[in-house]
Amino acid sequence: MFIDEVVVTFKAGKGGDGSVSWRREKYIPNGGPYGGNGGRGGDVVLRATENENTLSDFRHTKVVSAENGQNGATKEMQGASGNDRIVEIPVGTVVTDAETGELVADLDSDGAEYVLCLGGRGGFGNAHFATSTRQAPKFAELGDAGEVRKVKMELKLVADIGIVGLPNAGKSTFIQAVTSVRPKIADYPFTTLVPNLGVMEHKGKSLVLEDVPGLIPGASEGKGLGIRFLKHIERTEMLLHLLDASQLESVWQNYRDIRKELETFSPEIASKDETVVLSKTDLVSNEDLAELLKQAKTELPGKRVFAMSAGAMIGVEEVKDHLIERAMGRRKFLETADDEEAAADAIMAEKRKTYDLTGRKDADDHPKIVRKDSETFEVSGVRLQQIVRMTEMSNPEAVARVYDVLDKLGVIRKILSAIERDDGIKIRDSYFEGFDDESFSPVIVIEGRKFPVEKIIFSKRMKEQ
Ligand code: GDP
Ligand code: MG
Repeated sequence: MFIDEVVVTFKAGKGGDGSVSWRREKYIPNGGPYGGNGGRGGDVVLRATENENTLSDFRHTKVVSAENGQNGATKEMQGASGNDRIVEIPVGTVVTDAETGELVADLDSDGAEYVLCLGGRGGFGNAHFATSTRQAPKFAELGDAGEVRKVKMELKLVADIGIVGLPNAGKSTFIQAVTSVRPKIADYPFTTLVPNLGVMEHKGKSLVLEDVPGLIPGASEGKGLGIRFLKHIERTEMLLHLLDASQLESVWQNYRDIRKELETFSPEIASKDETVVLSKTDLVSNEDLAELLKQAKTELPGKRVFAMSAGAMIGVEEVKDHLIERAMGRRKFLETADDEEAAADAIMAEKRKTYDLTGRKDADDHPKIVRKDSETFEVSGVRLQQIVRMTEMSNPEAVARVYDVLDKLGVIRKILSAIERDDGIKIRDSYFEGFDDESFSPVIVIEGRKFPVEKIIFSKRMKEQ
């Protein structure tokens, strides 16, 4: 089996920052908080499509990002949301986490989608934080970061075109000349012959070409190794039959020999669309070539026969054009009319609502407290961590809001009682009563940021007084 394999980092958009601004109306001095919320960052969505057959777009693109949300503005204006980034990948692509190898998504049908990275939430503007006790909040939230995921994408390739011809017809040379990407060959039974495979990119489209080495008279009965490779092309769309033009006398006999092997081995393969190409034309004179093309008219009536030299790169472009044209004519979804396209978009829009969010980590939002050492309490929780990430740490009011949240969630109470229980320290009316080591100062750590417990208690007391 051939495998196309790429590792790509996807980044959802950052949320826009909330705005700090004030109502400024005539005759109303200091009219209150007026800052709007930031817009949400765009998601990264993987979408399976039958229009793609390789992952070669990602050979050169290692990072793909969705748009950031815009910042909020005064007059409570909400920032615009960032556009989602829809990433089209071939049907059958398996997506795994690049670090853990864990399966992320297996997109096995046309139009299937998976939201890989959620965009960051937009920050609230200061208008959001106005309450009866806090009438003039001088802070806003920062936009949250978008999710970032590094994934491996793998696609088992089925060749579009099987290249047949006698040994030395120039099959390998042609593949070398027209393909840029060489997929990895995996799980291949050990033989002395390895099929030559490549991705041909031409006019914005790509085709997977596969060489069928070892085809000789008698191959279909098991002579040589050709039979193993014939099996490979059972699923290809088309055949490219190469004929060494320098074998002037035997060109057409060679053609019939290969056809006979194909027909004996599998009528199904033999019935595939076949493009016939005379190769190595640089080795024959113009007269001889003209004679061969004349013969072609009687040997293969009604069939267009191409002539090229992959070695000298003559006539190769015509062959590429023809292959792309033939293959695209066969692929269902590619060239749709405009109105059909609109209809397809509508169906997609419908499908987009069926997001697969299984296994998302925000299900359990209850803060967890882990005592890392005597003074350090690490607190985690999806929402709480988000709030901390969105806090401008240099703004005391913004930090005070985190303390409020910690208090409301009961985190502080739990930590204090843990200290009482574990260390026998009384923390009631006065701070750390009965404990005389003043250097003891427990700290809450969230998202790597430190919140001294002492400060929290202090700010709480200030409020109560
Ligand atoms: P395969 O057995 O069908 O894969 O054939 P190869 O691609 O290995 O080619 C067989 C021989 O023909 C090699 O020595 C190539 O260098 C040579 N060859 C292939 N294509 C051309 C061509 O267009 N012109 C010339 N002069 N030699 C070629
Ligand atoms: Mg070869």
